[in-house]
Amino acid sequence: MVSWKLLSIFCLLSILGSAAGAESLVIAQSTVTVHVDPKATPVLKALVLDWIKRSAHGIASYYGYFPVPTVDIDVRLTSESGVFRGVTYQGRRINIQVGENTTTQEFIKDWEMTHEMFHLALPLLDDDYDWMGEGLSDYLEPIARVHNHTLTEKEVWKEWIDGFPRGLPQAGDEGLDHTHTWGRTYWGGALFWFLADVEIRKRTHNSHSLHDAVQAILDAGGNGRVEWELERLLTTGDRATGTTVLHDLHQQMGDHPYAPPLADMWKELGVIESSAGITFDDQAPLAFIRQHIVR
Ligand SMILES: [Zn+2]
Repeated sequence: MVSWKLLSIFCLLSILGSAAGAESLVIAQSTVTVHVDPKATPVLKALVLDWIKRSAHGIASYYGYFPVPTVDIDVRLTSESGVFRGVTYQGRRINIQVGENTTTQEFIKDWEMTHEMFHLALPLLDDDYDWMGEGLSDYLEPIARVHNHTLTEKEVWKEWIDGFPRGLPQAGDEGLDHTHTWGRTYWGGALFWFLADVEIRKRTHNSHSLHDAVQAILDAGGNGRVEWELERLLTTGDRATGTTVLHDLHQQMGDHPYAPPLADMWKELGVIESSAGITFDDQAPLAFIRQHIVR
């Protein structure tokens, strides 16, 4: 049996060990401290730092600044290849696992780090609304990666056409606030924010977007370190766009199994999927909205 004292010394030593090997990255005036597993080779460590820097710059370029003043990122090695099991804690720490054979290309194509960093930019909400944070991270992540040039606009629309149906209500669904399945939490949540983005642009003739809403929430201090009531989040976001879209959509989707007519939406937005891949129809009625969502 390991005594409490021994365990404490061991914990202290591991903290000191990781602190000694930590690298500090300055991202738009914030400090991102990266603790890379000491077992990582120098080549892998360089790839990891590059990947974290790229992801952090993507977030900072979306918001104009990095969402929190400091964050610790703990990167553990696994025997797999790729990036796995990212978790963000209280806007202060991100734990993530990286395979020891992960390639440059896999780091470039990774979505997880960007997803986790978007969690730093939304307040913590009651557990019933987990879908809001997961959905927002999932919705904004590919958009940030297009800005970072690691994903193309067509790849994003393809992801959404394939993915959003997984977020639709199934039999017995009681709305997003009460149906905590994987599909409803992640894809259903992303769908909520996508619908919000389209609707804000529709009601304001593209002069406002979801970006204004989430920017206002972060600017009001709503980062991943603080807890907010849902009402404050919806009100802050809606005020920034001069609409009631977030309230309206939450009323529609929070307590009810609302399924939007996705096929009609793709047509209106001018997104066509065929054997040739994704093409765009600029004559579609909402093409002017589609052209601004991802770019
Ligand atoms: Zn997440």
